[in-house]
Amino acid sequence: MQLVDSHCHLDLLDLTAFGGELDGVIENARTHDVTEMLCVSIRLEEFPRILALTEAWPNVYGSVGIHPNEREGREATVEELVRLARSGERIIAIGETGLDYFRSSGDNDWQHARFRRHIAAARTTGARSSSSTTRTASATPPATTTPRLSPRTN
Ligand SMILES: [Zn+2]
Repeated sequence: MQLVDSHCHLDLLDLTAFGGELDGVIENARTHDVTEMLCVSIRLEEFPRILALTEAWPNVYGSVGIHPNEREGREATVEELVRLARSGERIIAIGETGLDYFRSSGDNDWQHARFRRHIAAARTTGARSSSSTTRTASATPPATTTPRLSPRTN
């Protein structure tokens, strides 16, 4: 069986159990039939780390975007999201995105505006689909395979 992890945060992992190296994580995933992973961006400031991961491992794909609940970092324009999405061969999605009211309350206009920018960027870069029930919006399919939801193995 071949599995695709369609939503992970490889850039945020505590790598202590893997000797501080991501190689062990990638190999561990491979031994559990996870052949491809989509590393999802949650802050613009950390996007360079995701881009570097996609350049280091051919089975790691990335997204660019800002988590729906993120309030610390800076906002991105549609143009910046598009430029960053096109900056890497395996940057294939816009997100993490969506409308997340679980951790926010009150005026959510800022969250709506961010979601609209993410959708506009996904459309500009060739979005196949987007949904408010998921936090990523596809920009382009990967070169060799299409990420899809995979059943959990545990
Ligand atoms: Zn996430």
